[in-house]
Amino acid sequence: MFYRVVTSSRSPGIANGLTYESSDVKPLQGMPVRVSLRKKIVEGIVVDVLEKKEETAYAMKGIDEVLGNSPVLTQPQIRTALWMADYYCATLRQALGLWFPPPPWSRVFPRTQIGFRFCDDTNEALLRGKKQEALRDFLLGREWVSKEEIVGELGPMTPTLQALTKKGILIAEFRLESQEPKMDLRSAILANPSLTEDQQRVYEEIRNDSRPSLLFGITGSGKTEVYAQLIADVIRNGKQSLLLVPEILLTEYSIARFEKLVRRDAISVLHSRLTLKERCDEWKRIARGDVALVIGSRSALFAPLKNLSLIVIDEEHEWTYKNEQAPRYHVRETAEVLARFSNARLVLGTATPSLEAWSRAKNGTYHFVRLEKRYLDQHLPVVRIIDLAGATFGKFYPFSPELLNAIDERLSRGEQSVLFLNRRGMATSLLCLHCRRRITCPASQLPFTVHTESSGKPYLLDHTTGIRADVPALCPHCKSSELLAVGAGTQKVESVLAARFPAAKILRADSDTLKDAEEMRSILRMMRERKADILFGTQSVVKGLDLPGVTLAAVLLADSGLSLPHFRAGERVFQLLTQLVGRSGRAQSGEVIIQTFRPDAPEIVAAARHETEKYLDDELKLRVHGGYPPATKIVRLLVRGPGAGNRAKNLLDEAKKNATAAGNDALIHLSPTLSSGGKEWQILLRGSDPRSLLVTMDLRDVTIDIDPIETL
Ligand code: ADP
Ligand code: ZN
Repeated sequence: MFYRVVTSSRSPGIANGLTYESSDVKPLQGMPVRVSLRKKIVEGIVVDVLEKKEETAYAMKGIDEVLGNSPVLTQPQIRTALWMADYYCATLRQALGLWFPPPPWSRVFPRTQIGFRFCDDTNEALLRGKKQEALRDFLLGREWVSKEEIVGELGPMTPTLQALTKKGILIAEFRLESQEPKMDLRSAILANPSLTEDQQRVYEEIRNDSRPSLLFGITGSGKTEVYAQLIADVIRNGKQSLLLVPEILLTEYSIARFEKLVRRDAISVLHSRLTLKERCDEWKRIARGDVALVIGSRSALFAPLKNLSLIVIDEEHEWTYKNEQAPRYHVRETAEVLARFSNARLVLGTATPSLEAWSRAKNGTYHFVRLEKRYLDQHLPVVRIIDLAGATFGKFYPFSPELLNAIDERLSRGEQSVLFLNRRGMATSLLCLHCRRRITCPASQLPFTVHTESSGKPYLLDHTTGIRADVPALCPHCKSSELLAVGAGTQKVESVLAARFPAAKILRADSDTLKDAEEMRSILRMMRERKADILFGTQSVVKGLDLPGVTLAAVLLADSGLSLPHFRAGERVFQLLTQLVGRSGRAQSGEVIIQTFRPDAPEIVAAARHETEKYLDDELKLRVHGGYPPATKIVRLLVRGPGAGNRAKNLLDEAKKNATAAGNDALIHLSPTLSSGGKEWQILLRGSDPRSLLVTMDLRDVTIDIDPIETL
């Protein structure tokens, strides 16, 4: 038999695996093995078992050893990795690497470990001293315990273990690390969700359809309860579920919800701030089958669950579901494939479906289910649009008098307000009053934002590149000293709020103030316990909150983003505004205020009227008309480094020639990327099948982004 093996070794040229021949050991697909590679022994995964030798295979060696006795990845997982490598133009090693902690993958392969047990006729009285007694208590009645577990529990023990082994009191034995579950997951359900009639109907509809379901439920309709019921079913059947959320650190509340449903020791919460050791431990726990529910962001899709039966993608429309490093996958597409191969159910939940999901629901690829009412029939809030062009700000810019009054009302009634502003820092830019140019970052050519340190000292920061600079004394263009910080950021808003509402307790949440999950947790706790009156921050931080005391939600400037020349700009603004609407009046009547310079923009009007379906239908028509996704496909090629412009120009010509020759309808454009200041170039190919144009091109020095979200 022949075996294709992919290793995590970075040697060039073997990123798609090598074929080995073996007749004595017969590993199964997904099993870890040890093979030789250029005079070294390395560990890898069997991705394919072949009857016949591949044409291209040469100088075949044997397999040295099979590690453990069962696969570490399932067939559906390996098939998904193969699909990803192909679809996203990545190597198989890159695709498989998603399923493992950072290389070497062997850190999570089953190992042979040393462990100890007491000799059958040990006289316990021979054990002396604290350490030996602790060891006795820990090992007594147990058949064999690994040294790792002993040290983990009792601290450093090597001399004690050695001494007792020498005396014949302990017996040392090597054993293969167990790959068997330690728990019966069926008993991990703690409580039954109790669904409303509407939620029950939706739950049953989802259960009775084998297609991926798009659960379109307005904010506060209780999508989480529907997920909970589906997850509980899966666990009762002894199988496993995956719940994907856009940003794990902001999902505290929903995690708390699931901890009431499932025993904590049967849940694994995966996020980017786990240490390597924690990641490896979670990986093994999941692979062993001791986890019934994995909750995590994007990369949790690749948790090594053996019996995956349900994937839920919450807030399906969120842009964080797109990976911006190779393989540049999208969670929605990849989950569809993994669910199909695993025979698992896929549920996508959102109040503002992506146009991709919306079009699939419309054409029947997805099964479409709606939750139209908020829990307990709570009404959606009244929305007021305030035209900033007619507002008189006085010294409280960017707050209109109407908004200030609305906040005042909340304060006097002891209710809470949430305010959004999608700009961090003190000011959005530094403007020269003489030549009227903005001070820009030399790398990106984009305007610097003005921030202040806690000492009050101002500095410049480019949010796209992270480059920081001192505030210049003179304009670099015309040497004028008349520089003015314009446009309010969150820091500025904080000082305005403090000045206007000195008695109010105000909390700020943006990525400058939030250093870890604990801070967000304490902010949410203060809001829930009504110890704060006003929470404000950037949309990305504040959206998704479920705070019953909030009766006013406001966006200070709804237009940011609308003027960008991006076909998804409107969709994004609509999503943010609808999320905003969703924050207010969840438990009592509420109000929403949208401040904008463009009160008639369709996104703003539709969000204010809660007309999501109409907005999506109109937007989909525009996309079809303009030839943009999801009506077409886009491929983005990125070129960096010296000579990028020329290289990109050549690629453009080659792609155009290919398109003409193949009768491919792709429209092909070349431009520098927005934030690179001319150092990075992109070629956008847009049409019904632009991907097929890549096949004959040599793109080794090019970043390939299939179905990009970012196209600027
Ligand atoms: P969504 O995710 O759809 O915006 P949530 O799942 O956060 O909505 O639910 C909104 C609020 O309503 C939450 O506070 C939740 O606890 C409550 N809720 C919804 N359905 C139920 C239910 N069946 N039983 C008890 N509380 C519910
Ligand atoms: Zn100037």
